[in-house]
Amino acid sequence: MGTYTITVLPGDGIGAEVTTQAIEVLKVIGERYGHTFTFHQALVGLAAIAAEGEPISDATIQLCQQSDAILLGAVGGIPQPDAKVKPEQALFRLRKGLQFFANLRPVRTQKALLDASTIKPEVLQGTDLLVVRELTGGLYYGHLEPSTPGKPSEIRQTANGIEAIDTLLYTEAEIERILRVAFDIAKGRHKKVTSVDKANVLSSSVLWRRVANRVAADYPDVTFEHLLVDACAMHLIRRPTSFDVIVTENLFGDILTDEASMLAGSMGMLPSASLGTRRTKHGIFGLYEPIHGSAPDIAGQDKANPIATILSAAMLLRYSLELSQEADAIETAVEQCINAGYRTEDLREEGKEVLGTKAMGQRIASAV
Ligand code: ATP
Ligand code: MG
Repeated sequence: MGTYTITVLPGDGIGAEVTTQAIEVLKVIGERYGHTFTFHQALVGLAAIAAEGEPISDATIQLCQQSDAILLGAVGGIPQPDAKVKPEQALFRLRKGLQFFANLRPVRTQKALLDASTIKPEVLQGTDLLVVRELTGGLYYGHLEPSTPGKPSEIRQTANGIEAIDTLLYTEAEIERILRVAFDIAKGRHKKVTSVDKANVLSSSVLWRRVANRVAADYPDVTFEHLLVDACAMHLIRRPTSFDVIVTENLFGDILTDEASMLAGSMGMLPSASLGTRRTKHGIFGLYEPIHGSAPDIAGQDKANPIATILSAAMLLRYSLELSQEADAIETAVEQCINAGYRTEDLREEGKEVLGTKAMGQRIASAV
């Protein structure tokens, strides 16, 4: 029995709908296991820009730092390319500022969803992989020497017309620490690591591969392979069960996991944990969020699948609060609801009952 503080950042679009359901499930866990969860809510993204003039305020960052873990919904809306302040800056500030460099995205295929998939059941069955995405480097955080003119990422007017620039930098230390996270996790799983890069084209990937080989030598009992990102995209749907831990850089991880979400049935099914090295008195400090975005096309319609966020809450219990039994209880409840034939709109299947966001959240909470 413990007392825990969780900062909740519902954000934009479907963010509030899905985090509300995750909170309901956590409250039931609290009642059942005798824990006290205190939830502090704050604004991020468009909601924060509207109310506080910036995507995330210093006060909100401070609130996050003082809590045991952070649960986030989604940030952003329909992209506004000319907007001066982008809501996504809230995410970058949270991730970089709090040093959440390791983003863990588990992908599991549930038996009950096999037949509804467009991928053959015999290819899908048994899929259980983990993408370890580097989260605080790469193209998302451009870098130029201060002496170089211009900005590391911008659209600019030149004598020859308009041009756009993005820059990609990884240090050896950044690559090494994420590789070690992947290998350490693989030791407790099926002992296989696939490192994904584009080493036939990018210098950052050449360094990535070099460091990966060096780190792999420290883990002789873990099977290790390299894969180019384009080939990985293909093999993910051709032989998903051959993967255990996939480790890759920021942008590749983003793209591959949207693809991998279809192995689990939908974008609305994949949770994530973003971790650094800091520990609280309970466990590792972390940020938990579904891999999907704000889904403006279905926001406010009670159509969003809350499972990705509810499973993110389970990861929060497991890693940040070290309540693994409670985390298992949530995962089992989700599986039970799927097995019982309940679906949300994104998983619509003939002969199965389609529930709204709230009803699905309530089902899972009662199953807990
Ligand atoms: P981001 O850049 O923030 O990742 P995105 O462009 O990838 O955003 P999403 O907001 O994730 O877009 O939505 C992509 C598609 O998936 C949309 O059609 C959306 O409705 C659907 N989708 C996303 N999340 C869910 C969910 N939880 N339940 C149902 N459908 C979802
Ligand atoms: Mg996306």
